[in-house]
Amino acid sequence: MKAPLIDPFARAITYLRVSVTDRCDFRCVYCMSENMTFLPKKELLTLEELDRLCSAFINMGVEKLRITGGEPLVRRDIMTFFQAMSRHLETGALKELTLTTNGSQLEKYSEALFAAGVRRVNISLDTLDEEKFARVTRWGRLAQLLRGIDAAQKAGLRVKINAVALKGFNEEELPAITRWCAERDMDLTWIEVMPMGEDIGSENRIGQFWSLKDVRAEYENHYSVSDLSERSGGPARYVQLAETGQKIGFITPLSHNFCESCNRVRITCTGEIYTCLGQEGSADLRAPLRASVDGPDLLDDAIRAAIGDKPKGHDFDYSRQEVAGTMSRHMSHTGG
Ligand code: SAM
Ligand code: SF4
Repeated sequence: MKAPLIDPFARAITYLRVSVTDRCDFRCVYCMSENMTFLPKKELLTLEELDRLCSAFINMGVEKLRITGGEPLVRRDIMTFFQAMSRHLETGALKELTLTTNGSQLEKYSEALFAAGVRRVNISLDTLDEEKFARVTRWGRLAQLLRGIDAAQKAGLRVKINAVALKGFNEEELPAITRWCAERDMDLTWIEVMPMGEDIGSENRIGQFWSLKDVRAEYENHYSVSDLSERSGGPARYVQLAETGQKIGFITPLSHNFCESCNRVRITCTGEIYTCLGQEGSADLRAPLRASVDGPDLLDDAIRAAIGDKPKGHDFDYSRQEVAGTMSRHMSHTGG
């Protein structure tokens, strides 16, 4: 183990999210346009490079690794990457290996994921209505995702459902989705939609911004809701429903209220590191990674330099305008 990654504000960086592809088999309206141009293959980190990069972070104290995308499970041979990462679970250096997925490939991969040491998955699902599901994901089919959830649970993976809150789209489904999660013993988190890429309001009128304050108020119409103090170092807040005992999460991706405990950084599939989701600043790790194959280890220095530049947070005058406005990069680029 090397010296841990501590940023200038004394926060230890223990959580890494890595996007392994910008591609996806869905085209969710709030995430991608119908006709996406994806990156040429040579721009992407190879699986071997992803391994070296993640391992470097783990050697510097990252304990939790979340794989995302795009859709991580559509990357060719991605299981070999998960299998390779499991060696860090075996040594105890890595405490958790997990992924965020649209679920379409879980029927195929759940057992292999479990065998590689994955114990929890976040699966995105905004509606239980087949027609609405096809509309919001454009290319997705609900039945396939439901088979994926069955397979995940059968393999022993704990499932958390992530639903993007869309007013006029899944608003009336809140009790049904909540009940369905309770029946299947799955956690549920609502995500506030971020104005990324195209304007979702103009997309077949799929939905509008539905603030999580209002989602919470909607819960109060149906349940007795109490706040939980539990925090994860990230933007999620939790409440408990007295009637079912369920824990419901709320993620406001650009909220300012967790910066002081922020323990995470993100890496794109091209090896850019973003140390703050709310800011555009990034640094390139691909060049030092590629230059370090047979030469001096430039990667560790580049990682430490990037962490040394991690902003205190995005609740600052110089960044406010960007946070309030539209981020130019898509979630499929940085990984949600
Ligand atoms: N393809 C995987 C999936 O859908 O779970 C992983 C990548 S996806 C970018 C990660 C998460 O970001 C998903 O839960 C998705 O719903 C969410 N997401 C995408 N675009 C978003 C947006 N504009 N606002 C809020 N959440 C968004
Ligand atoms: Fe694909 Fe996930 Fe984006 Fe939907 S949210 S288009 S599933 S990357």
